[in-house]
Amino acid sequence: MELPFAESWRIKMVEPIKKSTREEREQWMKEADYNLFQLRSEQVYIDCLTDSGTGAMSDRQWAAVMMGDESYAGSSSFFHLKEMINKITGFEYVIPTHQGRAAENVLFSHLVKAGSIVPGNSHFDTTKGHIESRKATALDCTIDEAKDTQLEIPFKGNVDPKKLEKALAEHHENVPFIIVTITNNTAGGQPVSMQNLREVRAIADKYGKRVVLDSARFAENAYFIKTREEGYADKTIKEIALEMFSLADGMTMSAKKDGIVNMGGFIATRHEDWYEGAKRFCIPFEGYLTYGGMNGRDMEALAVGLDENTEFDNLETRIHQVEFLAGLLDEYGIPYQRPVGGHAIFVDADKVLTKVPKEEFPAQTLAIELYLEAGVRGCEIGYILADRDPVTRENRFGGLDLLRLCVARRVYTDNHMRVIAAALKNVFDRRDEITRGVEIVWEAELMRHFTVKLKKLF
Ligand SMILES: *Cc1c(COP(=O)(O)O)cnc(C)c1O
Repeated sequence: MELPFAESWRIKMVEPIKKSTREEREQWMKEADYNLFQLRSEQVYIDCLTDSGTGAMSDRQWAAVMMGDESYAGSSSFFHLKEMINKITGFEYVIPTHQGRAAENVLFSHLVKAGSIVPGNSHFDTTKGHIESRKATALDCTIDEAKDTQLEIPFKGNVDPKKLEKALAEHHENVPFIIVTITNNTAGGQPVSMQNLREVRAIADKYGKRVVLDSARFAENAYFIKTREEGYADKTIKEIALEMFSLADGMTMSAKKDGIVNMGGFIATRHEDWYEGAKRFCIPFEGYLTYGGMNGRDMEALAVGLDENTEFDNLETRIHQVEFLAGLLDEYGIPYQRPVGGHAIFVDADKVLTKVPKEEFPAQTLAIELYLEAGVRGCEIGYILADRDPVTRENRFGGLDLLRLCVARRVYTDNHMRVIAAALKNVFDRRDEITRGVEIVWEAELMRHFTVKLKKLF
């Protein structure tokens, strides 16, 4: 008999989680203004809000924590981290930051000016925020296929080379760099192929532009290249990562994802001029150059996390669990962005809550329903997240309206996945009774989803 698949780790420490009643959850949801970010974590049974900073560190990472050097300047922990980043990315210059958006803030302060145009695949919300707040434009050149949630293609996160070429032909004097997000979070955690990175490089070279990889999930992207792209099956994840970065000029990193630490980030680049430029903003915004917002102990843990999570076994366990959850949704006929991405399931709320009008935010409504059903917290990646058009101030209904269910790294078991799927099935089974959604009562100008206050219309 063939042995079943099982995790590549065992559990050394546990953290109790609490169930609640529907009545309790209804009260809590109301108190939170129907915004799941406003819930307290103990009001949540299974937390699928994000895979950011929620991973479980390994025994090796915790051991490394004890070796942290908290020296203000010249910390040996910084050099351990720098050496690991050099090894995995090939980038020589490293600036630590407190998280990914801080890396964006520091690098973009040097590179993005009013009127700049930054093309790429789908920009992550903070990336878009840091571009638009500088009165610049984030130009989404993702392939059209990414919008068809049911189409099964292996690299649905790709940049459309024709769109990118057109953007550069028209705007090249205003383009400070091209940014490719790996994996493409906004389009459903979809990977970008090595072939596509090569095409982007060729277009960038033609116009003399540089390429930044927004690398939060670069290891998962490398896993998909290994398992889906011809010619990579026999390469290690580390070899593939190195090849991906060889096609770029620099990176911003949220280490809270594929670094498997709870807080941290960095900028890395091969260009001294970018390093010198970014340095000037790191010191006032983040801190001195050998800590940039991180503790010495956290830099140690990150160095180990980067090493571990660029090993195949660790990634295989993770992706396998996400695929397990997707398999259950298939069984129940629940539509999600196909094929399943690396870190999350993106349920196609428009196709589930067909009776809820766009203006009443179907994905947010589904997130609320799922929480009320079982205390499972997901996250709207849809019309609320899309913010308003900076010029017209209209809601942006052009993209997808998804409910994202993130799977934290090394945290939940497959039984938790079964609970999530069953809860979603219960909501799905009564979808036709759900005809109204929510209305915005208050919102911030940028990144409104974190603090938006909503009123329930059902
Ligand atoms: C999380 C994330 C960021 C921002 O990083 P933070 O650590 O949350 O500040 C940027 N880009 C992508 C693709 C991300 O997933």
